[in-house]
This record gives sequence, C-alpha cells and structure tokens, in this order.
Amino acid sequence: MSVAALVLAAGRGERLGLPMPKAFVPLVGRPLLLHALAAMASVPAIVRVVPVIARADLGRWERLAPELAGIPKLAEPVFGGAERQDSVRAGLATLGPEIEWVAVHDAARPFVRPAAVARVLEAARASGAAILAAPVSDTIKRVRAGRVAETPPRAECWAAQTPQVFRVELLREALAKASAEGRMATDDAQLVEWLGVAVAVVLGDADNQKLTGPEDLAAAERRLADSEAERGRRP
Ligand code: C5P
Repeated sequence: MSVAALVLAAGRGERLGLPMPKAFVPLVGRPLLLHALAAMASVPAIVRVVPVIARADLGRWERLAPELAGIPKLAEPVFGGAERQDSVRAGLATLGPEIEWVAVHDAARPFVRPAAVARVLEAARASGAAILAAPVSDTIKRVRAGRVAETPPRAECWAAQTPQVFRVELLREALAKASAEGRMATDDAQLVEWLGVAVAVVLGDADNQKLTGPEDLAAAERRLADSEAERGRRP
C-alpha cells in the first residue's frame, strides 16, 4: 500500500482573527502545520507528505526550514487554490503513478494520532474510501431561512474529520466530476459520495478537532500544557 499524505494549509483561516493564516499560527511554539506534517510523517505506511500552502505564504514556509528539516518524507510545498478542491487537485497533480493511495489531512487538525491514521488506512484498503469521524453529542438541525427544516436522528449524525483516505484514481475521478458539474464540497469524501461510492467511517479521536476560532486555540494550548504537567508529575 503506497500512500502519500496531502496536508492542506492553503486556507486563509480568518476566523482566528490573527495577522497570519491559520496553518502558521503557533501552538506551543510550533505552527499548526508543523504539528500536522510531523504526525502524518510518523505513520509508517505513508511514504511522502506533501504540504499544500498558499503561494503568498512561501516566505513563511521558507522561514520554517530549520524545524522542517527534522520531518522525514517531506516533499516540496505545492501551491493551493481559492477553494479546497483546487488545493486537493494541486496536491494530487504532484503524485506519480507509484502512489496508489492518498490521505488528505487538514493542517488545522494538529492532534491526529498515528494509530487513528493507521485505522483509516486499513479501512480504505478494504473499501477504496474511508474517513475518520466522531459521533456528535448535540442534536443536529438542518436550518433554512432561520427555521428548522429537518432533525436527522442523532444516532446517525457524525462529524467528519481528516485524514480522509482514497484510492488516488477514485479521488481524481471524483474531482473531475464535481468540477464538470460545478459542485463544491466541504470535505473530500463528499466528492466521492457524488460518484455513488460508499465511504467507510472509522471512529476518530474526540480531540482530532479542527481548530477554527481563537477559543479552540486557547483550549488546545491549555490541554497540551496540562498533559505536559501531568507527564512531569509522573515518577
Ligand atoms: O476552511 P476550512 O477550515 O474547512 O479548511 C480546512 C483545511 O483546508 C485548512 O487546513 C485549510 O488551510 C485548508 N484549505 C486549503 N485550501 C483552501 C481552503 C482550505 O488548503 N482553498
């Protein structure tokens, strides 16, 4: 199973309200992107890790060179596009025929665990497409014009995470179909669902959240500081 990871970091992430793109915001002193790249590179089955960044962030990327040098399997950065699909397409275009599988991961999910990545890779190998996801604790409402249009059964509602793993050819086909039809997905699995292909769901860790707002970042800092302190207390 020859797998490459695309780590998507080309979004603007303006909801953090900081003067830099989300992927470059430091978490315990290291940019989110670095946490995500290192986590994906630590998975033995992944042979290459491709960062997808915004062209405007090349200088920021280059300034990280000393820290990036410690991450194995790292490819040259690829420039993403205006929409997530454009960024995925740019990353896929760099993969040679030797790469059969791709794991697409958000740079904004720095806490992904290698064991969870290994689980989702295994599920994809059996089905062609698999995602990490976690059951939701809130009841989800579909809302239109300020009114509840539908309440799907909570037991059937899961929050999609990344990485999402696909056979490379399947994701290429799904992107081509979505672009021919002018459709825009909010995750990569949705593109494959539009082909009518079943996507396997693998239980992800609750802390593999996407850091979106300033409060997410503050909570993540606190959690990491607590676990450091806990480690320090252990004999
Ligand atoms: O915008 P959202 O929070 O869904 O972004 C998820 C991930 O996709 C982020 O890590 C972001 O940098 C990346 N992204 C991208 N190219 C875009 C939009 C988002 O690489 N055009």
